[in-house]
Amino acid sequence: MFRRITRNGISIITVPELESSFGIRVIFTNRLGGFSKGPYESLNLSFNVGDDYESVLANRMKVAREIEIPLSNWVTMKQIHSNHVIVIKEEDKGRGGIDYNSALPSCDALVSSIPGVACAALVADCVPVVIACPSGHAVAVAHAGWRGALLKVCVETSKELEEDCGLPSSEFLAFVGPHVCANCFEVGEEIAEKFLREYPHAVRRKEFGIKIDLGMVIREQLEECGIPAEMIFEIDDCTMCDSRYYSFRRLKGITGRQACFVAIL
Ligand SMILES: [Zn+2]
Repeated sequence: MFRRITRNGISIITVPELESSFGIRVIFTNRLGGFSKGPYESLNLSFNVGDDYESVLANRMKVAREIEIPLSNWVTMKQIHSNHVIVIKEEDKGRGGIDYNSALPSCDALVSSIPGVACAALVADCVPVVIACPSGHAVAVAHAGWRGALLKVCVETSKELEEDCGLPSSEFLAFVGPHVCANCFEVGEEIAEKFLREYPHAVRRKEFGIKIDLGMVIREQLEECGIPAEMIFEIDDCTMCDSRYYSFRRLKGITGRQACFVAIL
């Protein structure tokens, strides 16, 4: 289902079948091939993590060329670990493309049925999720960390997508991108308790701490809201184990963000 492509130093994961059959482009980036320095090395795509503006802009321009969607057609979010979903409109095109201030405020998921627009979620350990309705020509992207997972941001996103395209979630496909894996995601008692109530099998007590399988939680939610299990595809890469990715946890909070894009061509 997924294909890894390295071009001009940038390494992306795509879903070729979705693009060739339905004209829906899905892209996951990592940290390789950009201009940022120090803890942001090198393809940091966030304007909001302390990196130099010019470097991030250069990185975004390079990615824009690679994914063939100009920054004037990107839509990004001021993510807040919520379950707020925004259905984008024609006039939102370009918001958050070349700066942080114009990004869509206070939301963690976008729904779009506008051709040519790349909706993006920025992550470093949190789970990037794409939901697509090929027959309804509508797509969505969500950012789900542990807070977003508990708030069921993916369930809210799927509901909004159903409403927007008028088709049931049984017609959807979902793609779960690189995120912190079940072996790496260690949490304290307080967070573990929250997950134990609803997702006991995703909580693993080990000799040295408690681990949570966020991917399992997200997958369960996607199935719960009606997306067929066989239509949910997950990339195995762990952002914390794999140094090709930015990891908020591995890099102690000072780091960049990789992106997940979805666009109707
Ligand atoms: Zn890991």
